Amino acid sequence: MLKDSHRYFHKAADVLGLADHVRTILLTPMRTVKVDLVTESEEGKLLHHVGYRVQHNNARGPFKGGLRYHPHMDEDHAAALANLMTWKTAIVGVPFGGGKGGINCDPQNLTPKELSDITRAFVGRLKSDIGPTIDIPAPDVNTNATIMAWIMDEYSSYHGYSPAVVTGKPEHLHGSLGRDEATGRGVMYSLREAMKDDGKTLDGATVAMQGFGNVGSHAARLIADEGGKLVAVADHLGAVQNEEGLDVPALVAYAAEHRTVKDFPGGDPFDGADVITWPADVLIPAALENAITEDNAAGVQAKYVVEGANGPTTPDADDILRDLGVTVIPDILANAGGVTVSYFEWTQNIQHFHWSHERVNDELEKVMTRAYADVRDTARAKSVDLRTASFVLAIQRVGKASLSRHWVREPISLD
Ligand code: NAD
Repeated sequence: MLKDSHRYFHKAADVLGLADHVRTILLTPMRTVKVDLVTESEEGKLLHHVGYRVQHNNARGPFKGGLRYHPHMDEDHAAALANLMTWKTAIVGVPFGGGKGGINCDPQNLTPKELSDITRAFVGRLKSDIGPTIDIPAPDVNTNATIMAWIMDEYSSYHGYSPAVVTGKPEHLHGSLGRDEATGRGVMYSLREAMKDDGKTLDGATVAMQGFGNVGSHAARLIADEGGKLVAVADHLGAVQNEEGLDVPALVAYAAEHRTVKDFPGGDPFDGADVITWPADVLIPAALENAITEDNAAGVQAKYVVEGANGPTTPDADDILRDLGVTVIPDILANAGGVTVSYFEWTQNIQHFHWSHERVNDELEKVMTRAYADVRDTARAKSVDLRTASFVLAIQRVGKASLSRHWVREPISLD
């Protein structure tokens, strides 16, 4: 995965004519922490998990990025995702760098107490490596507001009451209104802006989606509110389709209860692998990486691919989509709504002040609309696609901060 994100970086660095030593400075993580976590199960057995935190770059502000709990979590994943966070925070202009981490565990097989013990052990090991001005974690796959509350609680036991150490907390514990839906909302805004450029609207647009968790379910709901029609959705357990459009509020309620869309009565089942090539105007990968590969990209029928997930498209597949004329709104732009509202939450925590839900959504809309326009204008100016333009813009912003801080001493051109 790291190799893929580096490939995208180098493509943009070529457009900028960036020297090799600058590429190395911008690509090399500043710190990688790996910790062994030995805890006890409720039955008294020893549990051993490995936790990671990669702090990629903090030229523009403290490291920022989610924590993923997944059996496949490893250093390569953490490094690749941390790298993407550096570019993502730069594109939306929030004053953070990039970090990411997680634990190689399967939360489905752990009790809440076991999960809490593992999380607290992780924070205990990282207590000097994270902090409101150092590195601020957030939710990602299989982590949520409950886990963020445990992180805040454990960190506060060492450092005093510290809500700003982590974002995505419960609303009753210094979480921001609107954080839960922010990534999905940003997906909707970025798609809306791209369609606007083509003289289209979301009204009546058909959507196929992979993943119906935090990002997918909120994006589906908000797109449906704008008149979009969710015609197919797949998650890790099953898939459901309805060419008339699925009843999204009913599907959201069903998925919340059953933890899957499988067997939703308002549609027909299908093989979830087919969701990528489903006949729809829009495809939203909102699950994990490597969903669109050179094996299935040629079959994509959508005109817009909006990357709710991080790293869902491999570079070879990306080339195929471009040749097909598909507009790809890349992860580092499309799913940046989450880190944007995380920034709002951090700001509120530091100021001990609460924003209304309306203010959060208004500010998010402004940030996402401006970020999309900046990327689109860069794409036009450099005659490149939206992904390359996103990387160009981000490299310029992180590069300029690095220059001003004298991390890069030789004169370099970032225009
Ligand atoms: P989540 O755990 O809430 O949901 C994940 C969804 O993906 C679930 O519906 C799950 O069933 C599905 N899934 C997992 N494996 C699958 C497979 N093999 N095939 C089909 N579906 C599969 O996670 P989330 O927070 O919604 O994150 C989803 C993606 O969005 C990740 O790539 C994450 O890094 C990215 N992201 C999340 C946020 C955020 O704020 N949560 C922000 C930016 C990016």
